[in-house]
Amino acid sequence: MYRLTAEEQTVVARAAALADAHIAPHANRVDREGCFPAESLKALADGGFMGLMIPVEHGGMGLRLRASMAVLEQIGQRCGSTAMIFLMHLCGSSCYVADAAANPAGPFAVLLGEVASGRHLSTLAWSEKGSRSHFWAPVGKARQEEGHVVLDAHKSWVTTANHADGYVATSVSATGTGIDLYLVRAGDAGWSVSGRWDGVGLRGNASNPMVLDSCRIPVDRRMGPAGGALDIMLGVVLPIFQLGCAAIATSQAEESIRLTTAHLGASRLHHLDAALSDLPVLRARLAQMRINTDRARAHISATLDSVEAPTDATTLLVLETKASAADAARETTELAMLACGGAAFSRHLEVERCFRDCRAMSVMAPTSDVIREFVGRALVGLPVFG
Ligand SMILES: Cc1cc2nc3c(=O)[nH]c(=O)nc-3n(C[C@H](O)[C@H](O)[C@H](O)COP(=O)(O)OP(=O)(O)OC[C@H]3O[C@@H](n4cnc5c(N)ncnc54)[C@H](O)[C@@H]3O)c2cc1C
Repeated sequence: MYRLTAEEQTVVARAAALADAHIAPHANRVDREGCFPAESLKALADGGFMGLMIPVEHGGMGLRLRASMAVLEQIGQRCGSTAMIFLMHLCGSSCYVADAAANPAGPFAVLLGEVASGRHLSTLAWSEKGSRSHFWAPVGKARQEEGHVVLDAHKSWVTTANHADGYVATSVSATGTGIDLYLVRAGDAGWSVSGRWDGVGLRGNASNPMVLDSCRIPVDRRMGPAGGALDIMLGVVLPIFQLGCAAIATSQAEESIRLTTAHLGASRLHHLDAALSDLPVLRARLAQMRINTDRARAHISATLDSVEAPTDATTLLVLETKASAADAARETTELAMLACGGAAFSRHLEVERCFRDCRAMSVMAPTSDVIREFVGRALVGLPVFG
């Protein structure tokens, strides 16, 4: 589906093999115990995958979006939590890439080497208690003070909180107009993680709340122009985040098909000398799961084509893709739960983890409701982000 070059296919195959050997074995425990998948992240770092989208001249793999999403899907099929942590790292580090491209002599160009070598794990700290899922409207403040910037904000959920090295945080600009993006480093004075994540799904994500309390950082930690961060947020991060969430949602749907197919084939009704897969109603559910998942894949594929050759429709496709894949994954994993019956409900099968994990994709911002609102606004001629 991703139409990759031979070289890209080799990278994806390497990711799949790494995920089988070093990520899948931990996934169930990570989910049950709600613990951070440290071994999985180390394996990705050791394999050079933290530099997946970092340009080659900075030591990364320099993969394009299309191939990066294929890698993400392979990780997501083995462990949703690891995939989301990895996606947030791709999003956070894409801000460093954007700043380094505009400012090659600046500090972010140096940081890219650290990211590519697996020594710096990044994430986004955008959602706030004050403006909730409306990440484009932070209420946290920045002010300039003696060559430093001082940040005050209450971030509501930050994936990888307490485990990341760098947090790309939004705030109302120190200029008073627009949004600024700053790199807050773990351990900066005034930075703290203020709670413990206990999610229904993606339980290994450490998506904890985070407080910036008079957090004082050097001025050169700002990415992009003062007050102008929205261009990086919407132009650089949004496509990676939207397509990444869609790829993870699809990976959960795909995994639920694999698990359901195996269960229906292996489970027997001895009194009828039949397998569950001999029941037409269960085969119809399986078929609908395949149709839903292929439809979501087709949407992702069309959006990737559009991102590579942008038209007026690209922004809407980028927005739609996450909602479409999230819906498909929710419907597909629900069908998987029904098809596998009590065996799924009682947690004998890992199908229920897919069912729980994929639900995050509908509520992570922009939420599916908000996406529908944006798309609806565009259709009736209102400004999308108005
Ligand atoms: C697993 C997980 C990981 C996360 N990781 C991160 C992270 O790393 N960084 C980060 O910044 N954030 C992160 N978040 C936060 C996430 O992006 C959302 O901001 C958060 O889930 C929103 O929850 P809320 O209760 O604040 O939603 P609310 O904003 O309170 O929304 C409640 C409901 O209202 C709906 N709604 C809200 N506004 C509108 C509107 N204008 N039109 C129609 N409906 C609307 C929503 O769809 C939702 O159903 C994470 C969340 C989760 C669940």
